[in-house]
Amino acid sequence: MTERKILLDENEMPDKWYNILPDLPEPLPPPLHPATKEPLKAEDLKPIFPMELIKQEMSGEKFIRIPREIMDIYRLWRPTPLIRAERLEKYLKTPAKIYYKYEGVSPPGSHKPNTAVAQAYYNMKEGVERLTTETGAGQWGSALCFATSLFDMKCTVYMVKVSYTQKPYRRIMMETWGGEVIPSPSNRTESGRRILENDPDSPGSLGIAISEAVEDAVKNEDTKYSLGSVLNHVLLHQTIIGLETKKQLEKVDEKPDVIIGCVGGGSNFSGLAYPFVKDSMNGGIRIIAVEPSACPTLTKGEYTYDYGDTVGLTPLIKMYTLGHDFVPPPIHAGGLRYHGDAPTLSLLVAKRVIEAVAVKQIPTFEAGMIFARTEGIVPAPESNHAIRVAIDEALRAKENGEERVIVFGLSGHGYFDLSAYDSYINGKLNDT
Ligand SMILES: *Cc1c(COP(=O)(O)O)cnc(C)c1O
Repeated sequence: MTERKILLDENEMPDKWYNILPDLPEPLPPPLHPATKEPLKAEDLKPIFPMELIKQEMSGEKFIRIPREIMDIYRLWRPTPLIRAERLEKYLKTPAKIYYKYEGVSPPGSHKPNTAVAQAYYNMKEGVERLTTETGAGQWGSALCFATSLFDMKCTVYMVKVSYTQKPYRRIMMETWGGEVIPSPSNRTESGRRILENDPDSPGSLGIAISEAVEDAVKNEDTKYSLGSVLNHVLLHQTIIGLETKKQLEKVDEKPDVIIGCVGGGSNFSGLAYPFVKDSMNGGIRIIAVEPSACPTLTKGEYTYDYGDTVGLTPLIKMYTLGHDFVPPPIHAGGLRYHGDAPTLSLLVAKRVIEAVAVKQIPTFEAGMIFARTEGIVPAPESNHAIRVAIDEALRAKENGEERVIVFGLSGHGYFDLSAYDSYINGKLNDT
């Protein structure tokens, strides 16, 4: 019998995160101050982030120790399983072996608490009492409300208005963990008021919500801001996914040929893939980032300096971007509707170490349905992008008669996204 679930004991959980900065093929272009356009200094970030996270953001250390208190919380759901998708392989009649790393076993149901817990912890250590943030689909907001509740901190979440309306269950989950949830754009901030003056019916966007959350943090002494993706320290915390996956593959004596993940800002993808990037640079492994055609940052964006938010409060970072005022159409994979990408990921795509593809919405749901009916788990609409490309790779392996090893990231479950599945099942999805 082949092993279905490759599990690690709790004491086999990695106790360090992997920092890709010193291993990049060339130095990362520095973030620039939004007003002066000079390279950013650590002090510039102090109004919004605690010192330890600023240090991690700029660190040249390859490995950073995970504090004991964070390890203890990780153990609520980690190590997460690596699962052989045997029933999916049989359904596809492919000689390829398909494995998926499942992050949906965390309490909020995605990879996001890997960094939310770390960020809440370092803020708590430095005396911060409240965190602000933005959320799109509600995944990040719920992860941060979960994390702050564990450290008795307050949390204010600016939630993109279209999701606030479409996804009440995520809002209720955030409130259950003690968070305050505000539909964005809101009247609470100058940034929000400015948007509403021009467009009272604005559906909102992640960029707008970021502007509101940053403004709230800057204007309040006891408050800092927290970001769920894109930044170096966020991707760093997510590397526990790939470090575990590496150990799990070694356990079954397997070497991956292809690694696949979906990309919004790039955190779950990088978390899974970065520990394998050096192997990829030496040849042998292909690493594929998958994004929606409705928000094709890596495949159609420009690699240039841009703001992280809509209003232009955040530093300028060099990344693939569709422009900071780009408002993507309201596709169901809300977590993939960001106008830019992580700077390290952007550099690795520009250097062709990592490949990028864009897929349309309907084929991603087709893939998600196949997965649900073979492997059982109903995937998050975001994760369906990775499944789509994993299935395509497995079918290509079949055509070529190759026994390849495909690993993909199942970043979360879709049990709060059933209305999206309802639309698909009833033929109401469209691909514009
Ligand atoms: C937020 C989210 C994503 C996209 O964000 P990344 O930072 O690109 O990982 C993908 N999948 C799920 C389930 C998410 O919640």
